[in-house]
Amino acid sequence: MVDRQLRKRGIRDPRVLEAMLAIPREEFVPPEFRVSSYQDEPLQIGHGQTISQPYMIALMAEVLELTGTETVLDVGSGSGYHAAVLGALAARVISIEIIPGLARLAEQNLRRTGRGDNITVVCGDGSQGWPEAAPYAGISVAAAAPDIPPPLLDELADPGRLVIPVGGRLDQELRVAFKSGGVIHERIATFCRFVPLRGEAGWR
Ligand code: SAH
Repeated sequence: MVDRQLRKRGIRDPRVLEAMLAIPREEFVPPEFRVSSYQDEPLQIGHGQTISQPYMIALMAEVLELTGTETVLDVGSGSGYHAAVLGALAARVISIEIIPGLARLAEQNLRRTGRGDNITVVCGDGSQGWPEAAPYAGISVAAAAPDIPPPLLDELADPGRLVIPVGGRLDQELRVAFKSGGVIHERIATFCRFVPLRGEAGWR
C-alpha cells in the first residue's frame, strides 16, 4: 500500500509514510471487509459511512505539515483510523464524531490498538469545531461541506492549516486553507468524493 498507492502518487513526508506503515488498518475495518483493508478504495464501516481511501488520508495528513508538537482537530472520527494516523504525527488529537455509535467504535478501535493515548474522541457536531481545546494548528475534516464552516476558521491557530473537501454532495475539491498573520490563503490539493458533512454548517 505504502509503495504502490502512496509513494508512487507523490506522498513524500517520511513521517506520514512511517505512520501509514505502522498503523494496522485492518484493525479499523469491519471483519467482513478485512481482506480488503489495504485496497486502493474507501470501505463501509456501518451507519452509511466509510473509512477513506489510504491515499486520501495520507494526502490530507501530509498537507497539514505536522511536526509532532501540534494539537489537531479531526472532524468525522468514523472508524478512528484517520485519527490514529494524525495521533502518530501530532502531540494531541481531538476527534469529533456526530453519530454516537461511530464515536464509540472509534474509541474502541483506538484503545484496542494502543493508539488512543494522545487522542480524545468526543461526540458532537464537528461543523462547529470543538472550542474547548482550540486553537488547533491543524484541522482535518473527513466529510464534504458546502463551504468551509466559519467556526473551523475561527478555531484554527495562526499559523495553522485546515484541510476539507468542499463542493456538492457527489464530488468536491480538497481544499487546504493556511492561516498566517490573520490572513487565510487557500489552494486546491485534488478532486475527491467524500460522504456529506452533517450538522449546522454541513448539509443538515
Ligand atoms: N475519518 C474516518 C472516516 C470518515 S467518514 C475514518 O478514518 O474511518 C466521515 C465521518 O464524518 C462519518 O463517520 C460521519 O458520521 C462523520 N460526520 C459527518 N458529519 C459530521 C459532523 N457534523 N460532525 C462530526 N462528524 C461528522
